[in-house]
Amino acid sequence: MSPPADRIVMKFGGTSMAGIERIRNVARQVKREWAKGNQVAVVVSAMSGETDRLVNFCREASPLYDPKEYDVVVASGEQVTSGLLAIALQAIGVPARSWLGWQLPIRTSDAHASARIGTIDTEALNASLAKGEVAVIPGFQGQTEGGRVTTLGRGGSDTSAVAVAAAMKADRCDIYTDVDGVYTTDPRIVPKARKIEKITYEEMLELASVGAKVLQTRSVGLAMKEKVRVQVLSSFGDPDAEPTPGTFVVSEDEIGENNVEQQHITGIAYDRNEAKITLTAVPDRPGAVATIFNPLAEASINVDMIVQNVAHGTGSTDVTFTVPGAELARSLDVLEKAQQEIGYAKLIPDTQVCKISVVGVGMRSHAGVAATMFQALAERGINILAITTSEIKVSVLIHEDYTELAVRVLHTAYGLDAEDAA
Ligand code: ADP
Ligand code: ASP
Ligand code: MG
Repeated sequence: MSPPADRIVMKFGGTSMAGIERIRNVARQVKREWAKGNQVAVVVSAMSGETDRLVNFCREASPLYDPKEYDVVVASGEQVTSGLLAIALQAIGVPARSWLGWQLPIRTSDAHASARIGTIDTEALNASLAKGEVAVIPGFQGQTEGGRVTTLGRGGSDTSAVAVAAAMKADRCDIYTDVDGVYTTDPRIVPKARKIEKITYEEMLELASVGAKVLQTRSVGLAMKEKVRVQVLSSFGDPDAEPTPGTFVVSEDEIGENNVEQQHITGIAYDRNEAKITLTAVPDRPGAVATIFNPLAEASINVDMIVQNVAHGTGSTDVTFTVPGAELARSLDVLEKAQQEIGYAKLIPDTQVCKISVVGVGMRSHAGVAATMFQALAERGINILAITTSEIKVSVLIHEDYTELAVRVLHTAYGLDAEDAA
C-alpha cells in the first residue's frame, strides 16, 4: 500500500536553475516527488547572476531609480524560470502550470524592493494541485493591494517558499540549494565545516541575520512563527533517487535538552556588508549620542554595533558604529548635515571591515564563550574594532583581510572542525 500523499513545497535557488540543463534536472526531481502521489508546489529563483544583472540595469538607467520600477525589472528573472520549469515538466509528462505573484495573488506591503508578504490566496493554487498539476511559483515577487509588482529583498525566494508552505498548510518545505545542508560555517571558506543535522529556528534565525545567506532571515522568522518544517538539501544529487537528508530546521523541543551532542556554539557566520563610521571629539555630555543616532533613525538607517570611547579629562569622546554598507553614503550625508548639532570634529568612514559572529543556544548556560573568541583572535594578532552580544550570539568587527583566517581559527577554537577533515 502506498503511503498517504503529502502536500509539499520544493524551492530551487539560482544555481539550481542556471540554464536549461539544470532546469531539466530540477524537473526530474519534482517528478520524483509528484510521482509518489504528493501534491507539489515548486518555488523558483531566477538563474544565478540574473538578478544582479537586472539590478545593474536599473542603476545604469538612473542611480536614483524609482523602487516601484526596480521591482518591475528585477521580478522578471523569476518569471522566466517559472515558465521554463513548467515547460520542462510538461515535456516529461508532468502536468504543470506557472502562477505569477499577481495571478495567485501573493499580496505584500508596498515597501518596494523589500516588501513583506501579507496574505496568499490559495484558491487557484489548491484547485491546480487538486487536479494533479504541479504549481510553479516564481519566488521573490508579489503585488500590492493596488496591483503593483513588488519584490521581497535579495534572497527572498526562500521567504516565498515558506509563505506558500504556510498558506497551503504543507507537510514540509524543502529548500534545494547548491550545498547539502546548513554547515557550522560557510563550507566554501572552511573546508572543515561540518553539516548540521538539526538546527533550532532561533539559531538559524540568528545565523542568517549575521550573514549565513543559506536562508534569507525573514524566511526563518516566518517558518518559526508558522511552524513550517524546513529542510535545506542539495539539488545536485541523482534527480531520480531519494535525496540524502539535509539539515532540518526545528523547534528547540525537538532537539531536546539532553542532547549530548549539543555544542556551546552551533555555527559561525561572517558579513562583509557592514561599514564602520567613527565620529571624533564628540562632546562628552548627556544627550550627545542621541544627536548622532536620532537623525540616522529618522532616515531609517539601522545602526548595528556601537562603541563609545570615554576620553577622560578631555571633555570629548570618539563614537564608532556600523551601518549596512549599502547605506554608507546616505549615513554620511545625514551626519554631515547634523555636524553643527552633534559637534564632532571628524567623520571617518571605513568599508574594509567584516563582522564575525558565533551563535549557539548553548551560550545561555555556558560561560566563557566570548573569552574563547577574544583569546583565539588575539593569538593570531587579529584586532577587534567593535563588539556586540545577544543572548545566543557574540559578534566582533575586524579588518576584512582577516575574515577567512578568523572564521577558521574560531571554528577550530570551538571544536567545530569535522573529525574526518584533513
Ligand atoms: P540559492 O541560490 O540556492 O538560494 P544561496 O547562494 O542563497 O543559494 O545560499 C547557498 C550558499 O550559502 C552556499 O553556496 C554557501 O556558500 C552559503 N553559506 C553561507 N553560510 C553557510 C552555512 N553556514 N551553511 C551552508 N551554506 C552557507
Ligand atoms: N533572485 C533573487 C535574488 O537573487 C531572489 C532569490 O534568489 O532568492 O536575490
Ligand atoms: Mg538564497
